[in-house]
Amino acid sequence: LKRSTVQQLLSSQELDREVLVKGWVRTRRSNKYVAFIAVNDGSVIHNLQVVADAEKFPEDSLKDVATGASVAVRGTLVASQGKGQTVEIQATEITVLGKADPEEYPLQKKGHSLEFLREIAHLRPRTNTFGAVLRVRHALAFAVHEYFNKNGFYYVHTPIITGSDAEGAGQMFRVTTLAPEHPPRTADGSVDFTEDFFGKATNLTVSGQLEGEIAAMALGKVYTFGPTFRAENSNTARHLAEFWMIEPEMAFYELEDNMDLAEDFLKSLVKYALEHCADDLAFLNEQYDKELLGRLNSVVETDFKRLTYTEAIEILKSAKQKFEFPVDWGTDLQSEHERYLVEKHFKKPVILTNYPKEIKAFYMKLDEDGRTVRAMDVLFPGIGEIIGGSQREEDLTKLTTRMAEMHVPTEDLWWYLDLRKFGTAPHSGFGLGFERLVLFVTGMANIRDVIPFPRFPKNAAF
Ligand code: ATP
Ligand code: MG
Ligand code: MG
Ligand code: MG
Repeated sequence: LKRSTVQQLLSSQELDREVLVKGWVRTRRSNKYVAFIAVNDGSVIHNLQVVADAEKFPEDSLKDVATGASVAVRGTLVASQGKGQTVEIQATEITVLGKADPEEYPLQKKGHSLEFLREIAHLRPRTNTFGAVLRVRHALAFAVHEYFNKNGFYYVHTPIITGSDAEGAGQMFRVTTLAPEHPPRTADGSVDFTEDFFGKATNLTVSGQLEGEIAAMALGKVYTFGPTFRAENSNTARHLAEFWMIEPEMAFYELEDNMDLAEDFLKSLVKYALEHCADDLAFLNEQYDKELLGRLNSVVETDFKRLTYTEAIEILKSAKQKFEFPVDWGTDLQSEHERYLVEKHFKKPVILTNYPKEIKAFYMKLDEDGRTVRAMDVLFPGIGEIIGGSQREEDLTKLTTRMAEMHVPTEDLWWYLDLRKFGTAPHSGFGLGFERLVLFVTGMANIRDVIPFPRFPKNAAF
């Protein structure tokens, strides 16, 4: 007899047949006549109810069928009389595959705080909440690839270990060789961090963009989707030290094309989740955030508001709300400002463009006024910045001037400059923080709760 998943059985029309299911016990409750065992195997949020008659399964025979134990159940799939499910299994055989001592297993029936669950990251995927989050995360990752594949983008793999600093932000993790003859030492015996990757200084990537531009300037439309590292010593609910970023890069795209893509892409992803994760999202909506589904639907349906940074500053300066950080033309926006624009002022997602060049990266295309660049940030309700992107500077002279102004060393980026020397062309792209997307779609409040193994200051145990 082949094993069926809970998902298959719950959606099955074929009743009164013998089935085999394997999973983990969520709960067991019994009376004199019968025991009800809720089994979950991760395939869906719902449990499958297993009914064990007391005559065949005396209480004593079920003592190891405890919360957290893994079991194999054979029985007949029948229509259920009970509320909340259409089918159940009338058990003929229950085998405990792996016990879970009720004295020790931490996930007993009572609810647990998200903070506590973070401390048991190895067990939290077995909760309804994290099962739902991980399935939504999977669906969104799949939707990313599907969207790009359908729209003629090629998936390129950019390096994790890199010799360049894409953002000039100084937030990089160093890569050190620990082979016996490495790392290189200075005269006093300490590690020589200027040459630690077999004689070269290297870092973990903060963005695949610069390498993505190489691919775009050959294949036309490309994207990367991989792990990204930033040594942010911050403890916000929006930042991780290791996160996944999706970075499309397109030749012959101007800023407006870039905005159109970002908006269509985000709407398609949210729509995909609404269509494919209905049960998980309904659970999250019920459990954590009663406005979740409404918010997701409204993002799919409404046109994003597009305005310039300069216009946004005017709105923020005349806002009645008191901000922790006051704004003026030239300051970078904090999440409180971004969320004010989205949640209070426009009540819809916002795309802000044409930021002052001083607060943006060296590679962004300079506007005619010489003060702003062709940047765009997409701001989402509850999140603030979800996407950062721009049209890239394609003019060699303007680019090198910007690099000099911003003290970006040109020697390391000679290959990047070559792209402007040989067949340069307008091109654009953006970075979408995958966890911020998952945060938005699941309605969770903290980014540490939407990635299986969060990395944040002092947290990298396993
Ligand atoms: P923020 O202003 O929120 O710090 P950023 O402007 O530094 O973000 P970008 O360099 O523009 O970020 O990166 C592109 C996208 O990557 C951001 O819009 C965001 O969605 C995501 N992102 C950036 N830093 C982090 C981080 N530390 N953890 C998770 N996601 C991040
Ligand atoms: Mg940042
Ligand atoms: Mg930012
Ligand atoms: Mg940004």
